[in-house]
Amino acid sequence: MSNLTFTMIKPDAVRNGNIGNILQMINNAGFRIVAMKYTRLSLDQAGKFYEVHKERPFYGELTEFMSSGSIVAAILEKENAVADFRTLIGATNPAQAEEGTIRKKYATSIGENAVHGSDSDENALIEGAFFFSGLERF
Ligand code: ATP
Ligand code: MG
Repeated sequence: MSNLTFTMIKPDAVRNGNIGNILQMINNAGFRIVAMKYTRLSLDQAGKFYEVHKERPFYGELTEFMSSGSIVAAILEKENAVADFRTLIGATNPAQAEEGTIRKKYATSIGENAVHGSDSDENALIEGAFFFSGLERF
């Protein structure tokens, strides 16, 4: 099992001024930052990143939203990183997210849900490599 996961602070959370609050929650939960950057996805890049959802009805909305403003992308390290980070962020729909989770606190809707978290070790590696070269990891 890998000890890495990948996250993005999504455009809604950046716009709402929640970068610092979310990074603090990540830090307090025991994750170490391996790589991080402030950047913005083009529509095309957002489409590639979320290619697995291509056939879903919300794909257009999702890729437009994810390219609508800047994001923070990061690789995080912790034992059991993928599962523990999914617990920290909470359910996709903030209405169903547990108290104390990042999405419960900062997400506004199922589409604009503040953070991304990898759903498997395999995808964590693929997603990390989408944003970061070996020279950008510490
Ligand atoms: P993410 O992959 O961003 O961490 P997730 O794994 O909780 O989120 P997915 O099923 O992978 O959820 O969906 C990817 C993203 O697509 C969601 O985070 C959300 O922004 C958007 N999305 C999912 N379902 C819907 C929906 N029914 N309507 C609008 N947007 C949706
Ligand atoms: Mg997902």
